[in-house]
Amino acid sequence: MSGEALTQETILRACPRMGPDDSFTFECSPSFDCFTRCCSDVSIVLTPYDVLRLKRALRIDSSEFLDDYTLSPFTKKQPIPVVLLRMHPETKECPFVTAQGCSVYADRPWACRMYPLGVAEPKNPSPADHSFHFLIRENVCHGHDRGRSCTVRQWLVEQGIEEYQMMGASFRDLMLHDFWDKDEALTPEKMDMYYMACFDLDRFRRFIFETRFLSLFLVDEARVEAWRPDDAELLVFAMPGLHFSLFG
Ligand code: SF4
Ligand code: SF4
Repeated sequence: MSGEALTQETILRACPRMGPDDSFTFECSPSFDCFTRCCSDVSIVLTPYDVLRLKRALRIDSSEFLDDYTLSPFTKKQPIPVVLLRMHPETKECPFVTAQGCSVYADRPWACRMYPLGVAEPKNPSPADHSFHFLIRENVCHGHDRGRSCTVRQWLVEQGIEEYQMMGASFRDLMLHDFWDKDEALTPEKMDMYYMACFDLDRFRRFIFETRFLSLFLVDEARVEAWRPDDAELLVFAMPGLHFSLFG
């Protein structure tokens, strides 16, 4: 498996499936010769909650974060809109990597927290076909089979994944919607709404509070006030509304 490109097909064929109580042995340390090599030349897809945490950690507006640190390849070949962390064009390094390690460690994205674990989720889970974890083994990483043994469950807790899973559940449902299987694209207006409500939360907040939006819907006033200062509240509100506005 090592060195082989990770496609859906190779994951299903070649990766041993791991459940919550399965264990693996892994250590990551600044003393390893591979230290921070995993932070270069890598595709890191950002979730809405990743963007929220990072822009908050950097104390910048979501639009500024998206402009300065991300790529959004919305093309016909890529019908599901994604936001990627933009690597340096020449060195290919992550913008947050330093000689000492990750400069945004406390708010690092979901994918960085999970590594070296991956997760495969079927679209329609059933007892015979349900989600599973697997180990990502790459030649660049020398942390495998070193240090202590840990279960999948322990790893997820230690890396703070639960909060990311909770905040990401509605986004996951959005991504797994049948619409994306059809040969259709979102209209430019819907695409912009999707991008704004998922990723550009500060712009979304201005849309909510500085347009006629609130006069068109009956929304509990206390909830509305909760969205004003709280990005996470706003994101939780945005997801079901967005689901409805995109797919009916
Ligand atoms: S965010 Fe941090 S952990 Fe993730 S690739 Fe960048 S430097 Fe590495
Ligand atoms: S390559 Fe693996 S062991 Fe090395 S720093 Fe990255 S995660 Fe840690």
